[in-house]
Amino acid sequence: MPYDRPDVDAAGIEGYHAHVYYDPETRAVAERVRAGIGSHFSVRLGRWHDKPVGPHPVSMYQVAFSVEDFPRLVPWLMLNREGLSVLIHPETGNEYDDHARFAGWLGQPIALRLETLRKGTRERSLAGRVIRQEAS
Ligand SMILES: [Zn+2]
Repeated sequence: MPYDRPDVDAAGIEGYHAHVYYDPETRAVAERVRAGIGSHFSVRLGRWHDKPVGPHPVSMYQVAFSVEDFPRLVPWLMLNREGLSVLIHPETGNEYDDHARFAGWLGQPIALRLETLRKGTRERSLAGRVIRQEAS
């Protein structure tokens, strides 16, 4: 089958987030996973959100990491997430697509509150970049 679909260019990925979800019963597990991340990687560890925030319907903290860290951090999370649900999404400048279209899950997916996210601005979306590349 011929591949005739315009690619979304992965070069537009500026970085990644991992969102590590927990609940009151698994908070201690989430603390252990966070300590492991902090001891192995130089990433930005977001603060604890014990209350739902934005599209995240349950407690979580965010891990912000670079494109270069992806091939080490994501496999580490695959092996060491201790049963927690983890959302991995790229940062493309379009927060809706980042969470709704481009995200992947480790463990059990959680239904996000996508209605809290901006539908992406076209000029910063990857689709916009592809169109401009084709025109030049
Ligand atoms: Zn995020």
